[in-house]
Amino acid sequence: MSTKRMEMVGDLLRHGVYLQVTCECGHVRRFDGAELLERFGYGGSVSVIRRASYRCTRCRSTRARTAILPHSER
Ligand SMILES: [Zn+2]
Repeated sequence: MSTKRMEMVGDLLRHGVYLQVTCECGHVRRFDGAELLERFGYGGSVSVIRRASYRCTRCRSTRARTAILPHSER
């Protein structure tokens, strides 16, 4: 990860990165900028995004780890 400032959803969109959520069951879900924008709004802060609860579509758990990753790692 570079030293780019990522503070809001708008920054994530501008830098073309996505949020990866990894459930405790191992299920991985990725949210791109458009999805984050829809859920949190343009000014939604990254710290809020990372602390938000994401319900796993496989096991229904909300205990997951989040990471901000660049699109190039897809
Ligand atoms: Zn799960």
